[in-house]
Amino acid sequence: MWQTKGHDSVIDFIKNSIESKRLAHAFLISGPSYTGKTTLAFDIAKAVNCLYFIKNNAPCEECKNCIRISSGTHTDIHILDFLNSKSSPIEQLREDFLAQIYKKPYEGKHKVFIISYVDRMRSEHANLLLKTLEEPPEDVIVILISEDISNILDTILSRCQTLNMYPVSDVSLLENMFEHSDHQLPDNLDSKLIVKLSRGRIGWIYRVISNPDLFFNMQNLFDDMESAIENSVEVRLKFSDRLAKNFKNTQLDGFSDIDIMTTWWRDILMILIGNETEVININRLDHMKYISSHFTTNNVVQIIKMFDSAKVNLRLNTNPLLVYDNLFLGIPSILET
Ligand SMILES: [Zn+2]
Repeated sequence: MWQTKGHDSVIDFIKNSIESKRLAHAFLISGPSYTGKTTLAFDIAKAVNCLYFIKNNAPCEECKNCIRISSGTHTDIHILDFLNSKSSPIEQLREDFLAQIYKKPYEGKHKVFIISYVDRMRSEHANLLLKTLEEPPEDVIVILISEDISNILDTILSRCQTLNMYPVSDVSLLENMFEHSDHQLPDNLDSKLIVKLSRGRIGWIYRVISNPDLFFNMQNLFDDMESAIENSVEVRLKFSDRLAKNFKNTQLDGFSDIDIMTTWWRDILMILIGNETEVININRLDHMKYISSHFTTNNVVQIIKMFDSAKVNLRLNTNPLLVYDNLFLGIPSILET
């Protein structure tokens, strides 16, 4: 059974490639966060190793290979992560990729290397990858995962089969996820709101269903940001200090904070240009309307650009406290307007 939902054309493409024995040896799965990129990578790893794939035209989920890949214990599946691992990309590429790639698979049919956040890769890392992407061993599949394809070198792109994971637009498919889940949403959480907030990112819905605190943390972040722009410089600096600490704790959460806050500002922009139906954070509409009355469209466009550059600076390893201080001191306080 394919775990990837809502991306039928991508799955059909993989099925046909396996059937016609023309599956690429290098893939680049690209798309926004939580659109199911890692799930697809694991689906491909299972599809090429499943003992009963031909019979089912999908991973069976029951053979030893499927079970061990799902549980993360299959010795032929190697996971590299350029954002969250303690080892540097160079160390990971040397130890978990180059030292392994020419060894025969131990228990499966194919060795699969899944490399996340390849947009963080610098040219010296890319060079380590390039040679193997040019002539990968017959039984190896390399799957690169990236949110931002614009940062990936053309020499890498041209050697990979790109699979795009767009947000899912089928609302009924997203709403059905709640019915088929083992978890229950708390009473004060409406599934329709979660679907709206997901912006079609199926993985985000899975996360909130299994951990509703994610929704409440997001609302806390909005409360604190609203309070920061409605209060004095001290309150804003305190908020930026909290964000910097969160970023230092886990970069993934830090980047997610920036994305979440940017959706709030895009909503403010939608209100200002009279496009309220496009607002995502509908549960906060009334208060956002009040705040938006203190800003001009131009202000908000500038602020969104500031969030985008803050994200770039965080990626470039600029001191997070400096990045957030600059960002929040640059936003006019409602007190001053
Ligand atoms: Zn199987």
